[in-house]
Amino acid sequence: MGLQIDIQAILANHAALAAKAPGARAAAVVKADAYGLGADRVAPALYAAGVRDFFVALAREGRAIRPLLPPDARINVLSGHMEGEDLTGLTPVLNSPAQFFRDRTMRPGQPFAIQLDTGMNRLGMEAPEWAAIRTEALAAGPSFIMSHLACADEPEHPANAAQLAAFRAMTDGCGVPRSLAATGGILLGPDYHFDLVRPGVGLYGGMPFADARPVVSLSLRVIQTRDVRAGEMVGYGATWHAERDSRIATVDAGYADGILRALSSSGAVLYAGDVACPIVGRVSMDLITVDVTDLATVPDLLHLICPQQPIDRLADLAGTIGYEILTSLGLRYQRTYL
Ligand SMILES: *Cc1c(COP(=O)(O)O)cnc(C)c1O
Repeated sequence: MGLQIDIQAILANHAALAAKAPGARAAAVVKADAYGLGADRVAPALYAAGVRDFFVALAREGRAIRPLLPPDARINVLSGHMEGEDLTGLTPVLNSPAQFFRDRTMRPGQPFAIQLDTGMNRLGMEAPEWAAIRTEALAAGPSFIMSHLACADEPEHPANAAQLAAFRAMTDGCGVPRSLAATGGILLGPDYHFDLVRPGVGLYGGMPFADARPVVSLSLRVIQTRDVRAGEMVGYGATWHAERDSRIATVDAGYADGILRALSSSGAVLYAGDVACPIVGRVSMDLITVDVTDLATVPDLLHLICPQQPIDRLADLAGTIGYEILTSLGLRYQRTYL
C-alpha cells in the first residue's frame, strides 16, 4: 500500500537512456528530492549502478546528498554560486559573469562548470557575456559547459535546431566537455548528445521517454463507504450529485498529498482490479471520494497511479505534466522502495 517506488526501474531507465547516447557519459538529475521520489535513496542507488555525475537545483540539495555519495561522485548545482552558499564538495554551474567572478574569487582551484543561454532565456550566460569572459573562463578549466533545450519534448520544434546551432557556435573549439541534452534531448538523436547527457524525468518513468518503465505506483486506503441516493450531493461545494443510487468510498489522501485539486470530478479514476472508479466531487485536503457503485465488493485499497493510469495520464486529466505529479507527491504516504 501507499507509495511504491521501484528503484530497479529507475536504474533500468537510466541504463536505457544511457544506451541511446553511447558516446556520452550519462548523469542523473536528482533535483527536487529526485522529482519527489527521495534523493537519499535514488542517488546512492544510481551511484552503485555506476553513475558518477549528478545534478541538483540548489546547493542545499547538493549538501543533503554529498555525505551519501563517495568523493568521486560529482554533484553539480544548476543555480550556480549564489552569494553566501557553502559549496564544499559541490560543483556550481555558473550562470553569469557575476557568478563566475564570485566563484573564482571565493573558490579558486575548485571545480566549476559554465551554463550558456542558447535561447531559452532562463539560466546561463548570453553570447556577448560569454565572449567577454570566454578566454579567462576556459583558462580556469571548467569541468564542462552546458546549455538547456526549451522544446526538446517536441522533436519538430524549430527551437531545437536553433539552440543546437547556437550552442555549437558558442562552444566549438573550447576543448572542454559539453552537455546539452536532458531526457528529451537524448531522444532527439546523436547531434544533441555531446559529452554528458542529463536525464531527469525519464529516469522516473515520465514522458517524453515513452519507453520508460513505470517507477511509481500509488495505492490509497478506503476509510469508509456509504450509500448515496440519486440526487444527493458529495463533497465540498456540492459540486457532484449522484445521478443514480450510488456507493461512495472515502479514500485517505487529498491535495495535501499531491492529488491535485484539479482532479476533482476530472475523469481520473481509482482502480479496483480492472474496474475504474471515478473520483467524484472535490478533492479535499486529506480525502477524495470515489464512485464504487460498479464494484461487487469494495477492496481495502484502490490504485490511483498504476499501469492503467500512469503519471502522464493523471497529469493530462489535471491539466499538467508528469513532472508536477511526481514532485507534488506528498510526504505523508507510507513509502516502500522496491
Ligand atoms: C531539470 C533539468 C534537467 C532534466 O530534465 P528532464 O526533462 O527531467 O530530463 C536537465 N538539465 C537542466 C538544466 C534541468 O533544469
